[in-house]
Amino acid sequence: MVFSVRDLWVGETPNTKWSQCQYCKLVITTVNLWRHVRTQHTSQPPRKCEYCQKSFKNKYSLREHIRIAHEYKTTGQSEGKDQK
Ligand SMILES: [Zn+2]
Ligand SMILES: [Zn+2]
Repeated sequence: MVFSVRDLWVGETPNTKWSQCQYCKLVITTVNLWRHVRTQHTSQPPRKCEYCQKSFKNKYSLREHIRIAHEYKTTGQSEGKDQK
């Protein structure tokens, strides 16, 4: 799982496609980018929903889940309740 700059440039061919990692801005071949992202940027511990303990692969999925599944619980219970 070691990437070296030399290995990347040795394999250069006219058909080699280069991409930039959107997370760390590393320039790497498109083929290797998939592996790079998977190993370097998706190995974080899963985010757990504090309401139902469901796990999500990133905070955006978790936030979206909370908004869809639990928003009605988190909003409307505080002020704004027009009840007399
Ligand atoms: Zn990266
Ligand atoms: Zn939940």
